[in-house]
Amino acid sequence: MPFPPPETLIERLHQGDLRVLSRLITRVENGAEGTFAMLGELWSSRERGRVLGVTGPPGAGKSTLVDRLISAMRSAGHRVAVLAVDPSSPFSGGAILGDRIRMQSHAADSGVFIRSLGTRGHHGGLSRTTHEAAILCAAAGFDRILIETVGVGQTELEVVGMADQVLVLLVPESGDVIQTMKAGLLEGGDVFAVNKCDRPGADSLIGGLVAMIEEGANLHGSERSPVFGVSALAGDGMDDLLKQLCGRLDAGRISPRQLPAVDWAARLLGEEVGRRAARDLVQRMAEGGDLTDRAEELRRGTTNPYRFVRALLDES
Ligand code: GDP
Repeated sequence: MPFPPPETLIERLHQGDLRVLSRLITRVENGAEGTFAMLGELWSSRERGRVLGVTGPPGAGKSTLVDRLISAMRSAGHRVAVLAVDPSSPFSGGAILGDRIRMQSHAADSGVFIRSLGTRGHHGGLSRTTHEAAILCAAAGFDRILIETVGVGQTELEVVGMADQVLVLLVPESGDVIQTMKAGLLEGGDVFAVNKCDRPGADSLIGGLVAMIEEGANLHGSERSPVFGVSALAGDGMDDLLKQLCGRLDAGRISPRQLPAVDWAARLLGEEVGRRAARDLVQRMAEGGDLTDRAEELRRGTTNPYRFVRALLDES
């Protein structure tokens, strides 16, 4: 079947056609031709979908919590999309299959869309792709979008960094994560929750977090992010956390970390210029001549990678 023209597809996307949504997300992931034009047209839909990032180490209870978030948001009449990202694993299939199974209770609900995003091996573009997928979800009528990432490193925080609000989920076992990340972690979240409070060590982790947040807020004169202790599985403490998260999204609160449009454009441009320049150069190399000779020099060791790249850039 020939691919329908983009206008038809976009019309169907606006009507909430989930198959079209899936297909367009795949196109964005693959960097297909026409992506920029399409996103340029859909950019304003962004406002319709409020985005919550949920990040935390593997096994912290993100899926359990997201499941409860979906239920709470559905009860409030929202349509909810979940984008599950696993930038740390080259085999994202496992984790993602797990997510799907865990969230199966919502599988039959047409007001819920769950999609995993592959890493495709390029970290730089992952945060962009995730947010482009979020724009598509918003255009399809999902007014609440949850982005779930595994891990609490800089990459994960960057992936969710363009969200309206970010929840960082920790567990009593994550004490060392906090030690190693400290400032980065605190800057990455708007709301913090310690899950598995039924386990030992939760209180001291909560105490440590609150102290660090207090210190940071005093230093920078910034707002104090709330810290919640919960047991997502049993539901203890969940009402307050869900109320806090849903309330922030309902109020349209925007995290101070969110990337302004100028930075978004700079990032896009950097990636795109790099991609095009690389393609042109590879093309020229394939055509032979001077560039092929240079590649041979590199192989023989008569030039080095820095001189090689510098020479290429001077010539292009
Ligand atoms: P994810 O990898 O972060 O998505 O974590 P999951 O939601 O899959 O949870 C990992 C495991 O922790 C599962 O076996 C959950 O049942 C369990 N779990 C989730 N919340 C709690 C909790 O509050 N207490 C305890 N003890 N286990 C929990």
